[in-house]
Amino acid sequence: MTLVIEGCAVATVDPAGTEYRDGHVVVRGNRIAAVGPGRAPEVQGGNRIDGRGCLLTPGLVNTHHHLYQWVTRGLAADATLFEWLTTLYPIWAGIDADATRVAATGALASLARTGCTTTTDHHYLFPRDAGDLLGATIEAAAQVGLRFHPTRGSMDLGQSAGGLPPDSVVEALDDILVASQDAVSRWHDPTFDSMLRIGLAPCSPFSVSPELLRESATLARELGVRLHTHAAETLDEHDYCLRTHGCTPAAYLEQLGWVGPDVWYAHGIHLDDDAIATLARTGTGVAHCPTSNARIGCGVARTADLLAAGVPVGLGVDGAASNESSSLIEEPRNALLFARQRGGPSALTVRTALELATIGGARTLGRAAEIGSLEPGKLADLALWRLDGPAHAGIEDPVTALILGAAPPLAALVVNGRIVVRDGEIRTIDEAATGRDVARAQAALVAKAG
Ligand SMILES: [Zn+2]
Repeated sequence: MTLVIEGCAVATVDPAGTEYRDGHVVVRGNRIAAVGPGRAPEVQGGNRIDGRGCLLTPGLVNTHHHLYQWVTRGLAADATLFEWLTTLYPIWAGIDADATRVAATGALASLARTGCTTTTDHHYLFPRDAGDLLGATIEAAAQVGLRFHPTRGSMDLGQSAGGLPPDSVVEALDDILVASQDAVSRWHDPTFDSMLRIGLAPCSPFSVSPELLRESATLARELGVRLHTHAAETLDEHDYCLRTHGCTPAAYLEQLGWVGPDVWYAHGIHLDDDAIATLARTGTGVAHCPTSNARIGCGVARTADLLAAGVPVGLGVDGAASNESSSLIEEPRNALLFARQRGGPSALTVRTALELATIGGARTLGRAAEIGSLEPGKLADLALWRLDGPAHAGIEDPVTALILGAAPPLAALVVNGRIVVRDGEIRTIDEAATGRDVARAQAALVAKAG
């Protein structure tokens, strides 16, 4: 099956930053066969998309999310992170496989509509007898059609042991390790073309024990999968680590083996110069989530310093309970705005913002060889943005229109060579039915918590 897109501006985000004012891409099967200027070479048969008025970019990569939160949006809207968590934990304790599948479908559909072709999920909440929650998210991702990097998350430090979550949503260390191993052996696909890779992800320093962090790191390295956790998100967490462990969250994680090219942290806001140097030296990545960070008011990450040091940085929408819009294309814009507000006008360029959302995310997930730029031989994950409507027409530079303009509609979203969105409509699911399912699941979950 061949797909040709032509007549569009193209931002390849390759190492040379190659762009074409008028260019094309040819997709054969699930791979990019050619990218270049002008019309595409004659191809027999196949599908042809007229890209006039559009900008073609690599599909966006979302490096941090909690899909289940799609059915708990709008709660604790004006709270601090710790207040927000303690409001939401009792509601989250009621989730089951059905609510998780419905939530994930809604969240993934919204990601697809905002240019995302690869997303991770940090699912750390496994109430007893709730069913196969990880399986439910995997089913939803297969249905919507996105490339998926879910993590088997965990919490083992309940309130009675000095942690933040209620005891009913934490698990025993041994059970977590068995479930983690099981998830990897059931689902993890390490191949180049993989649509599904599993990682291990204890939730955060204040909801898991040091033993769980250490054992998870050992297990992940035995199994050859990646490690993810929340780190340096708030000053409350910083103070908790100083009080409980006598060091910063970054130093604590380093002591437990949580640095390396196979590790990425969500947020990484409150990092000192030493911590940034450690991340750079070890190749540890950061999922920068500017919208969520601002929604909770927990600080602005040192994005320019992280990049200058050589730390892999991707972008994330984070869970929808702390980012109701979950619009991935708004993240490079907010990353740019916040970086400049913090570091001045040259802190982050428009094109670096696009890199963060694409190749930066791919690097953070360990997939820079396969996705994140438009180059022959890479997987065909593409976003074709419509820029000829009144909101964008006449903006001088198409990349600037995409990053600084309003979120544009998609003419097409292609994942692994398959068209998932066409002319603003998701082809793989019934969006109206998904909306009804989400509203029903949300009402039931809130009612359950009483
Ligand atoms: Zn998060």
